[in-house]
Order: sequence, then structure tokens, then C-alpha cells
Amino acid sequence: MDYLGEIIALGIDSVIFGVCLKQYFHCKNAITAVKGAEFHEVGPQLEDLVNNTSDNKIGYIAIRGTVKPLGKPLNSINNRKLTGVVQKLKIKEHVIARTTAGFWSDQERTIHKVYNTVPFALQGQGQAVEILEPLSADILDLDMVSNTFEPTVPSFADHLWGFFTGVRQRGLQSTEELLREGAVITGIGELSRTKSKILALQPPLNGTPFYLTSMSISSLFRKLNERKKTYRLLCIMFGAIGMLIGGIVLRRYWKDRTEQRMAEELRQSLAESRKERRQRVRDTDLRDDQLCIICRTNPREIILLPCGHVCLCEDCADDITTNCPMCRTPIEQKAAAYII
Ligand SMILES: [Zn+2]
Ligand SMILES: [Zn+2]
Repeated sequence: MDYLGEIIALGIDSVIFGVCLKQYFHCKNAITAVKGAEFHEVGPQLEDLVNNTSDNKIGYIAIRGTVKPLGKPLNSINNRKLTGVVQKLKIKEHVIARTTAGFWSDQERTIHKVYNTVPFALQGQGQAVEILEPLSADILDLDMVSNTFEPTVPSFADHLWGFFTGVRQRGLQSTEELLREGAVITGIGELSRTKSKILALQPPLNGTPFYLTSMSISSLFRKLNERKKTYRLLCIMFGAIGMLIGGIVLRRYWKDRTEQRMAEELRQSLAESRKERRQRVRDTDLRDDQLCIICRTNPREIILLPCGHVCLCEDCADDITTNCPMCRTPIEQKAAAYII
């Protein structure tokens, strides 16, 4: 567990790196796919194109047409005259919160978000292509219809409450966005014929992104390229951080290993010198009462405290840690005893 901090940091870094890498490849694949997609204005030629395929399906195609609801359109809440097919309503709370450093900073939090949709198609030259699952689009461009901010007028009690809780209400921001009827947009996705024999554009099954955008294809390219660059930069950054942490771990590991090796060498050289010393002692013919009481081979070398018995050699003393083998007194300390 010596490296717990580094391992946690490395884990978090790897997760972020993985997410960025995934997004980078997602963008890269999206760019390749959009590049390979044919561009068409919505028109009768789409029927022929789909009819000419073996499975009545074009895997990836870009088509541009005018948004037309298939039924009753949605009415804007804020401007009754405006109609659309996808509506996004959002309420955000703006607060000033005290940060851990003691400063007050502006923060916002989405407290309500809702989408409303009605079936719609892209139309052009008497042809209509129904758009399925518009909310699954990676890019769904909507027009901002209204954006209002209602500031909170705080009472004295609110001020006091805010002082203690560290959060002060600033106000509520409500926005309404709409994909308007009559807007000209480009849809990029899979074009096929539905069971009811009409043409429909939907998210491709293979996971290639689906786009409903008011941008031109070249602007979309630019946007995707920018995203790709951003993710590449993030990958490089988090990759470098990962390598740095990895380097630190390796360096510490190597240092620890060297220290361990040195300690082991020291222990061995001590054991070596002990052996030598014993050899000299043994040459002088030890009396029976000078031998370790456990192994009966080595000389007595260790004094046990507090009882003060000198009855063990160093090797046996390593194994005996609790009580003195002669008087059972608990061992508090051991020390080298030089009798000779
Ligand atoms: Zn011994
Ligand atoms: Zn003792």
C-alpha cells in the first residue's frame, strides 16, 4: 500500500485519458464518415437512390430540406406566432456560492429540462423524408426563442441564511429553444424506406453519429475538426500526466528496491562476520555452559533484559521473542553480550 496515492491518481488519470481517447476516435470516425457521405437536396431523386440499393437503405447520407411538421406543430410558449417541431425548455438556477477557499463565485445549476417533439419531415421539390428519433442526434441545432432572467430579491432573512449556508440565490434563467417550422437544415444519417413505404432518415445502427444541423457541411467539418483537436490535446495532456505519475512510481520502486538490496547486503555481511567470530571462539574449545541452550553449537551471544540471562546465540535469539527460555520472564529487550 506504499503507492496507494500514486495508484489512485494513475487510475483517475487513466479513466480521463480513456474517455478523451474514445471521444477523439469518435470525432475522427465521424469526420471520415461525413466525408464519405453523399450530399443531396431533398427531392424525388432520393427515391431512385434508395430503390437502386439492394436492401432499400443508404447507410450514410447528407440531405438538406425544409422542416415541415407531419401534423399539428408545437407552439412556442413565449411567442405564440412561432411554431416548431422540437422544443427544449430549460430552467437554470443561478447562485453565488462560497468556495472552500472562502471566495464567492457564480454558479449555475439546471433544475428543469424538458424536450417536446412532434413528428416532422425534411421537404423539398415535392418530396418528404421523415426524421426519426431527432433527440438521438449528436448535434441538434435549435433556435433560441426566448431567454429571460428573473433576479431574486433577497429579504434580510435570505441574506442571513445565505451568509451561514454559503449559498445565495441570484435568480432563475428560463430559456426556450425551437427547431422552427420552415427552417432549412441538413440531416446526416441512415436513409431507408419504412414499413409504411415512406423515406425516413434515422440514427445509423452502427453507431456513426446522427446530425440535424443548420450548419453547412464545411462548417460541420470545422466544428468536428476543432473537437478532434481539443480531444487530441487533452489526450496528450493526460497521457503526459500518466507517464509522469508512472515515472514517479517507477523511481520510488527502484529506490526502495536498492535500499532493500543494500539492507540485505549489510545483513549478510554481519552474518558473515558473526560466523567468523564464532569460528575463532569455537577454536578455543567452549565449555558446555558457554554454549547456547537451544542449539548447543554456537556460543552464547545475547543478553535478555530485564532478567539478564545470557543463554542464546544470535540465530536462536531471532526466533525467541516472547519469554526467556530459562526463567520465563517476558523479554523486553535483547542486546549483544561479549563474554570473550
Ligand atoms: Zn543457538
Ligand atoms: Zn531469564
